[in-house]
Amino acid sequence: MKKFVQRAISKIDQLDRNQIVDILGGLAGDVQMLENVLESIRDGVILTDEKLTVQYANTNCRKLVPMTILHTYEGLALSKVLLDEHILHYIDLCVHNQQLDEDNEFSFQKGESVQTVAVTVFAYKNKAREGGSSYVVMISDVTEHNANEARLRRSENLASMTTMAAGVAHEIKNPLAAMGIHVQLLRKAFARKESLTIEDAERYLSVLEEEISRLNSIVVDFLFAVRPMDTRLRLGPLVRTLEEVCSFVEPELNEHRVQLRRDFSTALPRLEYDEHLVKQALLNLIKNAMNAMEGGGKLTIQARLDGNQVQVKVSDTGIGMDEQVQQKIFEPYFTTKATGTGLGLTVVYKIMKEHRGDITVQSKAGEGTTFTLYFPV
Ligand code: ADP
Ligand code: MG
Repeated sequence: MKKFVQRAISKIDQLDRNQIVDILGGLAGDVQMLENVLESIRDGVILTDEKLTVQYANTNCRKLVPMTILHTYEGLALSKVLLDEHILHYIDLCVHNQQLDEDNEFSFQKGESVQTVAVTVFAYKNKAREGGSSYVVMISDVTEHNANEARLRRSENLASMTTMAAGVAHEIKNPLAAMGIHVQLLRKAFARKESLTIEDAERYLSVLEEEISRLNSIVVDFLFAVRPMDTRLRLGPLVRTLEEVCSFVEPELNEHRVQLRRDFSTALPRLEYDEHLVKQALLNLIKNAMNAMEGGGKLTIQARLDGNQVQVKVSDTGIGMDEQVQQKIFEPYFTTKATGTGLGLTVVYKIMKEHRGDITVQSKAGEGTTFTLYFPV
């Protein structure tokens, strides 16, 4: 139809009155058909010119948002037609910043229940007429959709409860093992010396204390498992946390003939991170690295600023993994170990997502593995 009309316009001088009437009649029919289509859809549609003067609004709009009740809205300012100032403000903002095609949700009390609508503003260039853009405001009822999503989230949470329960058992093992080792060290120190210095005793006891509080927070975290992960991001120097983790694991690493190398850039910006969660993530990675280096080896922990993110690399010279294993390691319960739970890396992955970061792995069977953690600055 469009092409036909364009051809007719270019030959308008040669057309007689009847032919023009025919064409206009056809066009009116088309417009009517489009209006029928717009009336039949469930969404609300408002067409405006570049000054936000309404050219057309379908009747469904009134079911979705508060509107003036009129037979026609043509020629009225949008602000006189739409009665919700939040939506008007949002549309103004979209048009002003040319931030289009994104939707925003608004809720209204409707009798007993709450109705939620999504509002999106689209722009289109009007070729036929002079002037700037015209706008289409789409209004969709998303109440049902949102309710479905909430239901889905709830059942997912329930499923992740079992994962979490197994995860707790797994997470508890790390601190318990560390406590066991430090109790042993304490016992040996007692045996060696007649009397233990206060400094020595305090060193071991503070590790035990720290681990007890870690155990405590793991259990507390589990109790909060039905809610989203309780992440407390605080601005701080990541290097301090890395140092603390290194000092904590070094004795155990040395006992397993693993040499620890620290390589921290001095120019790291302060980051927003949850210290407790990041420690947990690093300990999981270090434990895996240690497992991969049964006969000893080198573990390097490196921190660098790269563009607008901080990268923390944990590299080992252990057994490595082939491609197939690498693809599965972040899945819950995937393990190649006889006594593994396959939850360590799942937890690390979740922790990185909580930091709006990421984790990648590079590995070669027989040579070693590097995990890289990305933190946004
Ligand atoms: P688990 O340690 O209980 O097996 P993880 O989720 O921590 O569970 O790790 C999953 C699997 O990923 C391990 O079983 C192992 O096959 C592999 N893996 C993880 N880290 C390393 C590493 N540093 N070197 C080699 N393989 C690794
Ligand atoms: Mg593990």
